Amino acid sequence: MGLIVQKYGGSSVADADGIKRVAARIAAAKRAGQQVVVVVSAMGDTTDNLIDLANQVTPIPTGRELDMLLTAGERISMALLAMAIGNLGFEARSFTGSQAGIITDSSHGRARVIDVTPGRITEALNDGAIAIVAGFQGISQDTKDVTTLGRGGSDTTAVALAAALEADVCEIYTDVDGVFSADPRVVPTARKLKSVTYEEMLELAASGAKVLHLRCVEYARRFDLPIHVRSSFSNLEGTWVVKDRPEGADMEQAIISGIAHDKSEAKITIVGVPDRTGVAARIFQSIADADINIDMIVQNVSAADTGLTDISFTLPKTEGSNATTILKKIQGEIGYLSIQYDDQIGKLSLVGAGMRSHPGVTATFFAAMADAGVNIEMISTSEIRISIVCRQADLDSAVRAAHSAFDLDSDQIEAVVYGGTGR
Ligand code: ADP
Ligand code: ASP
Ligand code: MG
Repeated sequence: MGLIVQKYGGSSVADADGIKRVAARIAAAKRAGQQVVVVVSAMGDTTDNLIDLANQVTPIPTGRELDMLLTAGERISMALLAMAIGNLGFEARSFTGSQAGIITDSSHGRARVIDVTPGRITEALNDGAIAIVAGFQGISQDTKDVTTLGRGGSDTTAVALAAALEADVCEIYTDVDGVFSADPRVVPTARKLKSVTYEEMLELAASGAKVLHLRCVEYARRFDLPIHVRSSFSNLEGTWVVKDRPEGADMEQAIISGIAHDKSEAKITIVGVPDRTGVAARIFQSIADADINIDMIVQNVSAADTGLTDISFTLPKTEGSNATTILKKIQGEIGYLSIQYDDQIGKLSLVGAGMRSHPGVTATFFAAMADAGVNIEMISTSEIRISIVCRQADLDSAVRAAHSAFDLDSDQIEAVVYGGTGR
């Protein structure tokens, strides 16, 4: 008997009908003779609504209490799903992340899974039951407090459980038919990828393609666990995220596998920074001390006669006010002139392993941006990725222009969005 881990996202269980539809799919897998473990997200936009509620009570909720609040979302859906499956004549038992043995570190809001001890899940499976696990949550090894794994973290719960239970595959059910060459909500002509490598998917996820949580891909790569991303609204084969593309697939592989975009970042420019050894180290140490993750950095050559330079970097918008406060504190010590904060930026990333062996990708990309009237403000690259920052208002058209420039448009429309609000 095979063991399968299935994860259903919020849009798949948005209401009672959605829960019943998903319950029927799970029952079908059980009927086909599989042992089934299900990870479920909170219904629809529940998590966003709970965050809004917390912000109405206090501007800065503490991490511990916010995590306690948010994990309630997944508790609701796991219990309802277990009931709906019960109604179909199968036994289902729901478990919180802590009951399922998802052990994490203690950083609230972005906890890392450090161990998985799924004793109660194995017990339920041995009893012939279907196990339903609340996604996105765990328990801190040190403090014993409830933690969450970061937005979109149910994907990571699923892969972590699949690895611990030595499942054959982890199926991620969502509101589109797989991983596409771009977000189907922005590019209706996006094409579904049959397969994508861990390496490429890591770059896409890190660059804002929210179809898979970044840590889930890291985890799958570490355990070499195949992920099958597919829709809970159709029966179509989805996208396989695997170590290497299957034999023969490379022949037809485009240079660019996918395009990701991200509207969640802001840019800080520190103007008139003295061009001295150690200044950049001081600036970024103070940002790191506050546990703020930065992304792109650009520093201009200093104008020879002034000895001053500008440093720009991008960071999550949610960290914007924290970072500017910290930088203002060290203004006197460093002696820079001013700070500019810009949250109207967008980031576009081209990802593809084919970039390694094909020169000219950058030239084609930048020409497409020029033709679309998009001004490039920042650039960064990795071996298989090129990212740019532009005006947020230009981002969607920039994505569509790049998609066409690399011949990624599909002839027939396959990018169906079945549900979700895109929030
Ligand atoms: P779930 O609630 O099922 O976890 P998410 O909203 O987290 O779903 O992720 C699915 C969404 O990811 C899709 O609706 C789509 O808008 C977005 N997305 C972004 N980039 C891509 C991509 N390259 N392929 C498919 N979906 C993408
Ligand atoms: N409910 C959580 C969120 O909205 C986790 C998830 O859906 O994966 O981020
Ligand atoms: Mg998700």
